[in-house]
Amino acid sequence: MIRFENVTKKYAGTKRPALEGIDLEVARGEFVFLVGASGSGKSSCLRLVLKEERPSVGSIFVLGNDLGTISNRKIPYFRRNLGVVFQDFRLLPNKTVYQNVAFSLQVIGKSRGFVQEAVPDVLAMVGLDNKADRLPHELSGGEQQRVAIARAVVNKPQVLLADEPTGNLDPATSAGIMQLLDRINAQGTTVLMATHEAGIVDKMQRRVIELVDGRIVRDERGGGYGNTGVVPELRPAVVKGEQADVARKELAAAAAAAELETQAIQLQAVQANQDAANTAQVAPLSERREAQNDTGAAASATGNQTGIVNLPRRDETPDEVNAHLSLVDRLGLRSGDDEQAGDDEQNVGPVK
Ligand code: ADP
Ligand code: MG
Repeated sequence: MIRFENVTKKYAGTKRPALEGIDLEVARGEFVFLVGASGSGKSSCLRLVLKEERPSVGSIFVLGNDLGTISNRKIPYFRRNLGVVFQDFRLLPNKTVYQNVAFSLQVIGKSRGFVQEAVPDVLAMVGLDNKADRLPHELSGGEQQRVAIARAVVNKPQVLLADEPTGNLDPATSAGIMQLLDRINAQGTTVLMATHEAGIVDKMQRRVIELVDGRIVRDERGGGYGNTGVVPELRPAVVKGEQADVARKELAAAAAAAELETQAIQLQAVQANQDAANTAQVAPLSERREAQNDTGAAASATGNQTGIVNLPRRDETPDEVNAHLSLVDRLGLRSGDDEQAGDDEQNVGPVK
């Protein structure tokens, strides 16, 4: 599901690589802690999975995509399979709880009907159904993080990336957030969580990958935060074998799914347009302006999420599809990625 092959990441202008020679594999359904001191490379690792950064050396595969070769126009669709949660919540301050969650669906063109069903469901799941109309500043830190988690999982991403999600919370509140993440994982979402909080990791007894200065020094199933220092602790061979087997099956499944996925993306692009038209009709202009002003937070809030495939409506034209996609562009939700500038301007119809 996620695989790093000999990945090194060196940021421009720095002496030492942030990550060096990373090999790791996360199977579907796993809950994995990425632990290590501040500066050990945890966030870099998560940003690489999202393709917010690219490795200096090595290859990264996520959900059957080789991130080294994935095309720019596919990246936004790819990211819809990844939910993301941050230490500082990153909610849109002028939107209610409901709107914060709904917004992430609206900008990817989900229908009003879908939004009206999915948002209350996910708010109930995180225990905030009675606070749908509150603004973020009217909530406690733990509640704000629940909103952020609701937003991250509302469209049922396959992977949830959490970067120090309990970093701003007291221990009791953190425990509640961990229960929630555990529940999300139990429902089938793969969770990769960066943290430096030993207590949490010890309690959860899940797989722990420990980084020291950008290198993996431990990869242990059911581990605690531990005191292993720098001695690598390898997994037993049998587990490795099983894991490899799982990985092979996943690869095969991914290959088989690739064609389906391609078709699904085409269908989704078509459907997105119709839904965007609906959204545009219902959202007051002022709100759309506000959306445009919600800059970085909005981009991270929504650009990385969701991706359930729905059947297409039948009545869209390619022009309408492009109209929707340019709306997303204006909201800053398209990948601002490397590669050729202008790629995003090209026809974004059916994706090959
Ligand atoms: P962690 O999340 O474990 O604290 P990071 O991945 O944020 O670690 O950082 C790992 C190393 O990379 C640190 O030395 C940090 O200073 C450096 N680093 C992270 N992001 C950048 C960046 N954008 N530019 C330059 N150096 C960076
Ligand atoms: Mg970090």
